[in-house]
Amino acid sequence: MSRCAGWLVVHDGGGVRACTEEHRGGTCPGYHAPHTGGAISCRMLVGRPCATCGGGVARAS
Ligand SMILES: [Zn+2]
Ligand SMILES: [Zn+2]
Repeated sequence: MSRCAGWLVVHDGGGVRACTEEHRGGTCPGYHAPHTGGAISCRMLVGRPCATCGGGVARAS
């Protein structure tokens, strides 16, 4: 089974929408493949509010 060297990027709402390998110009074998880095929140990846889901801002829920 292929293994991905990146992290899965999880947006607010819990959906996996991307992989850091894709951001780096690489290819991801699929979001269901094992990911070496595990999962990371999009807000941790970009360090600012995410344009995709609006996450990154602390919100009371
Ligand atoms: Zn996001
Ligand atoms: Zn991947």
